[in-house]
This record gives sequence, C-alpha cells and structure tokens, in this order.
Amino acid sequence: MSLEFDLIHRYFSHIGSPIVSEVLLGIGDDAAMVSSAPDPLVITVDTLVEGIHCFADDPADSWAQKALMVNLSDVSAMGATPFAFLLSLTIPAFDDAWLKAFSAALNAQASKSNVQLIGGDTTKGPRAVSITALGYVKDGHALKRSNAQVDDDIYVTGTIGLAAFYVYARSKGIEPGEHATRAYRYPNPRLDIGPRLCGLAHAAIDVSDGLLADLNHILTASQLGARLVQDNIPIAKEWFVCPEAEAFERAVTGGDDYVLCFTAPKSARALLLSLAESMEVPMVIIGETVEGSGILLDDKPWNGVLGYDHFS
Ligand code: ADP
Ligand code: MG
Repeated sequence: MSLEFDLIHRYFSHIGSPIVSEVLLGIGDDAAMVSSAPDPLVITVDTLVEGIHCFADDPADSWAQKALMVNLSDVSAMGATPFAFLLSLTIPAFDDAWLKAFSAALNAQASKSNVQLIGGDTTKGPRAVSITALGYVKDGHALKRSNAQVDDDIYVTGTIGLAAFYVYARSKGIEPGEHATRAYRYPNPRLDIGPRLCGLAHAAIDVSDGLLADLNHILTASQLGARLVQDNIPIAKEWFVCPEAEAFERAVTGGDDYVLCFTAPKSARALLLSLAESMEVPMVIIGETVEGSGILLDDKPWNGVLGYDHFS
C-alpha cells in the first residue's frame, strides 16, 4: 500500500461511525455514493496545490481547467454524469487579471461540460484550488473499483504518459513540445465514456496517479492480479527520446493521464470495441485479470514503483 493510502486508511477510514444507511459507498473509490431519488448521488473532491500539482508558471486558465476536469474525471470514472460543483479557492493576493482569466476559463469549461458552480469558499494563502464535484449514476450501475472479475479484459481509453513527459522534460531541460504541455496544463477527459460503460464494464478508475498504481487499486479492491502485455500499452510517442525501458516505466507510473482504465468480461469485447469505434475513442486491451495479486508484465512480476505517492 502507498504511504498516502496507508495514511488515509489509518487515520480517516473509520471517522463518524456508525455508517449511516444513506451512504452507499464510502472511502476508497474515485467518488463516494449516497442514496437519493431516483438515482444515487456521486460526490468527490480533489485539490491542486502550487508546486505539487501545478508549476508556478502555469497560467490561470490552466488552474481552472485542471481543477475542474480532474474532478469531473473522477465522477465519470464511476459511470456517473456530473451536474454541479463547489469551488474552494486559496490565493496569495487579490489579482484581478488572474481572477478574470481563471473565472473565464472555469466558465467556458463548466459550460462545455454541462456543470454549474453552486458554492464554495475563498481564502488568502499559498495558491490552492479545491473542487468538489457532484453527479448522478443510474441506480445499480456504478463502476466500482471492487467489482472486477477474474479473466476480465483490461482496457485503457487513451494515451498513457503524455503529461508525465511534460514534467520529465522540464526536469531535464528538454523542450516538452506543444502536445505534452497541453496534456499537463489542460487535461480534457472525455466525460461521455464512463456512463456508456455501465452495464458493460465490471470496474473502472481514472488514471491520475499512474496507470500501474490506479490499475492496482482495482486489483486490490477486487482481490485479483493482472497480466499485462507491454506492447499493447499505448505510450505517448514523445517518450521515444528515452531508452525504451526507462520510457516505459516513467510513462506507466507518471500519472495525470485522465483516461479510464477499466475491466470487462471477454463476452463484452465485441460490443465495447464497436462502441469505441462509434464514439471515436482509442480504446485498447492491455491485458487481463488473473487469480492472485500484483501485476505481471509480459509474464514477469512488476516489482518497481507503481505510481505517484505524495508521502514517499
Ligand atoms: P482519486 O485519485 O481517485 O482522486 P484519491 O487517491 O484522492 O482518489 O483518494 C483515494 C480514496 O481515499 C478516495 O475514496 C478518497 O475519497 C479517499 N480520501 C482521500 N483523502 C481522504 C481524507 N483525508 N479523508 C477521507 N477520505 C479520503
Ligand atoms: Mg480517480
């Protein structure tokens, strides 16, 4: 278990028991779920902190798009459709130009995503943006991490490692290029995929901490292992500047991809691949779930790091 998850588990997993019956799903998934009529409500919160999730030179519109979309990504990873959000904004000073650019970008992205800002909080301090997003999922259709079955196909819905390349390139003084810069600063996950997977997929997660770390959350929650085929994992071609093994490891553990990783029975394969074609989503099968635990890559156990951990 990562130190971050160990911390959450140790200090926060049993707060305020007994569990009230309205809580359908608590800590441990992309979002929590509470009962409401006619469909359950899905709720999630994620925070961006300057110097951790964003660079000091990231523009205001990047903060807006990233803060909103990483949260809507979590909602859609539950198979849910977002409809509203709350904004908690911490900024070092009143800065009209920054606030204008931030709010204009937030408005543009929220309108495009059919969500409305319904509340929040504003304070002065080191820059941090926290968004709480709400969505609905059809009753009984949520894509939980814990529902993968043995012998499922494992899919991803897009390129892995593009935003991670931006971070790597900056650290090495390499020019990251337009494509990787956009992926890092302006994540733009497809929110229509998650809801379309309901009834077809068994389990899903959005890839935020690294493909292997996030897949491992599904595996741990479902008490399974996985066998992956390295050549099937769609690594961003930007990584070709690095030696292959290093490029692969950095791409699959880097995070910030905001694509979905999901599992589905082999019987759903034809339907899913035709859905991918009709939606023009680059959905690929990267392996399958197996009995046991851990990740086998080309039949060798993966013993390296799995992804980003705030506390290691
Ligand atoms: P994600 O990457 O999908 O946003 P996180 O890694 O942020 O998920 O969190 C993992 C799980 O732990 C989620 O279910 C989240 O709600 C829960 N969690 C994280 N931090 C806390 C906390 N301080 N108190 C309670 N639950 C938390
Ligand atoms: Mg998530």
